[in-house]
Amino acid sequence: MNSVKAYVVIPCYNEEEVLSETSSRMKTLFDDMKKNGLITDDSKVIMVDDGSRDKTWSIISELCDKDKLFGGIKLAKNAGHQNALLAGLMTVKDECDCAISIDADLQDDINVIPDMIRKYQAGCEVVYGVRNKRETDTFFKRTTAVGFYKLMQGMGVDIVFNHADYRLMGSRALSELEKFEEVNLFLRGIVPLIGYKTDCVYYDRSERFAGESKYPLKKMLSFAFDGITSFSVKPIKLVWTLGILITVISAIIGVYDICENIWKFSSLVNSAVISVWFLGGVQLISVGVIGEYIGKIYREVKRRPRFIIETRR
Ligand code: UDP
Ligand code: MG
Repeated sequence: MNSVKAYVVIPCYNEEEVLSETSSRMKTLFDDMKKNGLITDDSKVIMVDDGSRDKTWSIISELCDKDKLFGGIKLAKNAGHQNALLAGLMTVKDECDCAISIDADLQDDINVIPDMIRKYQAGCEVVYGVRNKRETDTFFKRTTAVGFYKLMQGMGVDIVFNHADYRLMGSRALSELEKFEEVNLFLRGIVPLIGYKTDCVYYDRSERFAGESKYPLKKMLSFAFDGITSFSVKPIKLVWTLGILITVISAIIGVYDICENIWKFSSLVNSAVISVWFLGGVQLISVGVIGEYIGKIYREVKRRPRFIIETRR
């Protein structure tokens, strides 16, 4: 088999605590893979600084000075995980045979990277890293994550179960990815749309060895909501169904109410007030859901750049 020119792309946001460990683990892995002839000598590890406020960029610069294995891209400001990752992938897509994306905290097992590359050699354009189990995640993270995948699939979004953004993409798949110009970027939903021969590698997810998660609950919820509204119009259909349902039910109750009143003269003020509040709430939610889609359209039509690169090393 021919050696592959493989790049690893790592988005980094305030990751000063993990970078030295991450880079040394990557160094060891790359040395091994070069020795085995799996990858070429000019394969690289590219770190994308997503507008960090700590020493992340100076650490990356230092690594680039010391070792030609490392490369760096500095974004002009914080663009978010998905955009930072895209910035890295789009920058390297014409330089390498394939690019592997992974988080800076190495919670995803880097030892399956050789397997990913072998599958690429065997003709796969996309290789998904899939988590076997989530024993090391907290109970909370585990249940919310499972809920997230279930919800997405229920809403008709085609995503790979238990796969985050740890994946290999060949340069052909990367060129196709470039054609997806959406501003509301949700790579996990887009990549399966590309097609080509794909495969999975399985691994156990470990704990973050230093630093804190940049995905608190609030960000995670908005990520899930974004993912759904970027790929599915089911919520709007649900609003419609809900409208029909409530209309039918209230019509039935209304008729019953009138009949009862004719015979009993009882007061129904309470239930009348509650039903007004209830319907008001349902309407507000519905308008909110539709508003979310309009907001997305608004952002899409502007075609603002998804990331801005300040320097490349
Ligand atoms: N990240 C980023 N920009 C952001 C937030 C996060 O580039 O605005 C990066 C972060 O440095 C890490 C990856 O995205 O490499 C995933 O973040 P994290 O590990 O905090 O998420 P979790 O694993 O907890 O879901
Ligand atoms: Mg993490």
